[in-house]
Amino acid sequence: MAILYIVGTPIGNLKDITLRALEVLRGVDFILCEDTRVTQKLLDRYEIKTSTLSYHQHSQLKKAEYVIQLLKDGKNLALVSDAGTPGISDPGNKLIAEITGVAPLQIAGVAPLQITPIPGPSALTAAASISGFSMDRFVFMGFPPAKNKRKKFFEEAVNSKYPVIFYESPYRILKTLKELSSYTEELSSLKSSLKIVVCRELTKKFETIYRGTIEEVLEKLGREEIKGEFVVIIGK
Ligand code: SAM
Repeated sequence: MAILYIVGTPIGNLKDITLRALEVLRGVDFILCEDTRVTQKLLDRYEIKTSTLSYHQHSQLKKAEYVIQLLKDGKNLALVSDAGTPGISDPGNKLIAEITGVAPLQIAGVAPLQITPIPGPSALTAAASISGFSMDRFVFMGFPPAKNKRKKFFEEAVNSKYPVIFYESPYRILKTLKELSSYTEELSSLKSSLKIVVCRELTKKFETIYRGTIEEVLEKLGREEIKGEFVVIIGK
């Protein structure tokens, strides 16, 4: 039975990979990558020779159909994203949804399709683990929308009963925090109790954790060159 492994890979520090992930990446027939160049760095580090394929390479066939065809041919596959756990706010999610939608339990006429998670790092859980907020329950909101419905997004985040976690790029982090501040201002009862944690470049050389009110964090970030990847956590 061919297996599709969904493999967690490092979010920065290449040492953050499980023994099982390395074994699977070595053992499968192909590794399906978001960007083969990014994954190749990890494979080179561990001297893994497995061939890689981009999810985007086969536009003539629907990606899901292509993956299913490989599985039908008896090929074991590993799916990875550029960083972290595939499916968490990245293109892996769409592919897995398509695959499970097309063949929920089995591919017509062939052995059942088996999808197996190989758990590993995620920026989401890494950030949650150091936040200090109660994480018994939390809301993950992915990325704020780039243009429309931003106000709705921030209102929902600020009004959440539980801590809220979202991802942000270096290009928009300041804009996002400024908007978050202004929407929080509108809801003044929350202003004094709202705290945020901004995690930058987790597990990497310039890892920095900023904690405080939105204004305090904005002030600290405003003094620095904005580079890297960010996770924002809003707590109460
Ligand atoms: N699937 C990935 C995961 O499990 O973490 C997330 C993919 S999403 C396309 C990429 C976003 O995750 C980045 O824009 C950033 O917000 C966050 N991210 C990834 N690596 C990070 C890191 N080392 N430090 C902080 N944030 C990171």
